[in-house]
Amino acid sequence: MTIVSKNFYDFSYADLSKFILDHFSLEPKQVGMRTNQIWKFVYKKGFSEVSQFSNLPIETKENLQKLFNFKRITIKEKKISKDGTIKWLLQLEDQNLVETVFIPSENRGTLCISSQVGCTLNCKFCHTGTQRMVKNLSTSEIINQILVAKDELGDWGTQKKITNIVYMGMGEPFYNFDNVKKSISILKEIHGLDYSSKKITVSTAGVVPEIIKAANEIGTYLALSLHAPNDILREKIMPINKKYKIKDLIESCSAYTKINKEKIFLEYVLLKDVNDSEECAKQLIKLMSSFPSKLNLIEFNAWPGVSYQPSSTDAVQKFYQTIKKSGHIVTLRKSRGEDILGACGQLKTESEKLRKTI
Ligand code: SF4
Repeated sequence: MTIVSKNFYDFSYADLSKFILDHFSLEPKQVGMRTNQIWKFVYKKGFSEVSQFSNLPIETKENLQKLFNFKRITIKEKKISKDGTIKWLLQLEDQNLVETVFIPSENRGTLCISSQVGCTLNCKFCHTGTQRMVKNLSTSEIINQILVAKDELGDWGTQKKITNIVYMGMGEPFYNFDNVKKSISILKEIHGLDYSSKKITVSTAGVVPEIIKAANEIGTYLALSLHAPNDILREKIMPINKKYKIKDLIESCSAYTKINKEKIFLEYVLLKDVNDSEECAKQLIKLMSSFPSKLNLIEFNAWPGVSYQPSSTDAVQKFYQTIKKSGHIVTLRKSRGEDILGACGQLKTESEKLRKTI
């Protein structure tokens, strides 16, 4: 009988511990120590070959070799922007492609990771939204994006280069809730990657039922892709608003902040003559007063074939000042990696769902 090896990166710390207890001939009291050792080799040192796992008994190494696959996904292409942003096009084992982006700045390094290949939500200003939904990423495919980026950046030392991780790449993370949740538990595990909840942000287009669930079960920072302050406008640019209205979003965000005690980041991309008027800014101020929030204003990044245009510098400044004067926290996010289509809303790969041919 051939043994099909499991992908190591699909295992949470608790899963690994249980697996070792069930499959390795170890005394229960040795299981914790062995889980720790293996976890550290993989997630603290970045080893992906069992031969690198020193100080383990030969039998344990043979078992690991037989039962697990530690393979990294492949880098198909790498682009470096003139501002230092790096975009990797990664090829999964099933040949699908995802994009992962590293955005360095003065005091932090942010890795933006994908949770799906394609997206079902079809937000009109987003390049990924024009790509057909292919699949949810597995936990290992999500984790692998981080490991590959750490390899590439030489980020296995004590001083992290990737300081923050944001689930803002391709896809809607809450439509892949379980795998995203498990990947975050791996990120947070102190024996390994050891990211605190305050270093991780999950972004949603507004999947209302999952927002409350995430407050209880995931507990990271939350970013809401809002992009419009009223239902009529939001429905035009974000079809998900037909299902979940702004009133429902406000309720779920209020509930989230009561549980999570942190402000929610509202993402708002400024589109010329669409959502950048004084009236929109006033409506947004009212909305922001409904629950603890901070606003990220984002300059629109064009992509081939898009019909929207970025707001003028003057309109951006007026919008920003109106919000600022109201006393709410607002930041104007500079566009990064635009020249390599690595900026917010620009990610898209050529993966398409394979149709069955009869
Ligand atoms: S903005 Fe996010 S949710 Fe909307 S289409 Fe793009 S990837 Fe999907």
